[in-house]
Amino acid sequence: MTRFFSEKYKALTPYVPGEQPQDRRYIKLNTNESPFPPSPAAVRMAAEEAAKLQLYSDPECGVLKQAAAEVLGIAGDRILFTNGSDEILNFAFMAFCDAEHPAVFPDITYGFYPVFAKLNGVPYREIPLKDDFTVDPEDYIGAGGTVFIANPNAPTGIALPLSEIERIAAGNPDNVVVIDEAYVDFGGESAVTLTEKYPNLLVTQTFSKSRSLAGGRLGMGIACPELIADLNTVKYSTNPYNVNRMTMAAGAGALRDTAYFEKNIRETLRVREWTAKALQELGFTVLPSSANFVFAKSDRIGGEELYRKLKDRGILIRHFTVPRIREFNRITIGSAEEMQAFIKAVRAILDECV
Ligand code: PMP
Repeated sequence: MTRFFSEKYKALTPYVPGEQPQDRRYIKLNTNESPFPPSPAAVRMAAEEAAKLQLYSDPECGVLKQAAAEVLGIAGDRILFTNGSDEILNFAFMAFCDAEHPAVFPDITYGFYPVFAKLNGVPYREIPLKDDFTVDPEDYIGAGGTVFIANPNAPTGIALPLSEIERIAAGNPDNVVVIDEAYVDFGGESAVTLTEKYPNLLVTQTFSKSRSLAGGRLGMGIACPELIADLNTVKYSTNPYNVNRMTMAAGAGALRDTAYFEKNIRETLRVREWTAKALQELGFTVLPSSANFVFAKSDRIGGEELYRKLKDRGILIRHFTVPRIREFNRITIGSAEEMQAFIKAVRAILDECV
């Protein structure tokens, strides 16, 4: 750290993203990417847009708004597109959190929330998940701050029903409630329609998982026009051209290719059920997942040891050192072949343990 580094960031511990090693080819089951390439329409449209990269992108993201209106039925003044959903989450911390509105979120959830809070100098309160790793909605009624809930939650994969999300939105009329739906397409119930009823509700989604565009960096926020206007004030004060031309075109192509999207979701759910069953047959505890990953632990091998042994065999999964979940690993659902290779490797590792 240099003597030039601002005092306000000196205590910051950055978010640690999942490994993206370049030293060898791994079966990557550690960052919840899609095993499927982007829609061919998305690739074609992005390639065409590459020839216009001398020009700035449209800060209003017109082509994306058009596609969102047609495919998702969301009007242009109710949606904001960002550089990944990480950016809309950061905008929400900037726009809706301060000393009077501390951030409130579960103790086990997306690890970026406390980092965003610290980056923005915002106090935060963590509410423990129940022993079964579910969110107790009761804990969030009158939360006394800006609520952030990932639904389905990460890294557990467990989803709250829409009725409970509605109770939380209704139970905090004087605070913004942010529902992070990064994984909603894999089995959760979206709260997007509730944004028409609750002026304090912001729903965030990403193109990184179900639409195979993690490397394109595209996310979105859906809320009433007034909340979107506040978020736009932050966006236009930060980076008006936050979504680049190629990504915008790819996003519009991916949104319109609903058949491809649905086919990939169906396959991921099929492979998820297969993987969960195979792990259970090997004696693992597998939490009920509504996401494109499973969260599992074995009583025959520690979480970190399993992670390391799989890495030695060229398979990456995600291990967290947080005490409550130290024995678990988060395993992305890859292709059927990748998951067969994963289960085979786990079986071999367990056989070595006896
Ligand atoms: N929310 C959750 C719960 C996530 O797991 C992720 C992915 N790391 C994100 C948001 C952000 O994803 P992205 O920035 O790629 O949209």
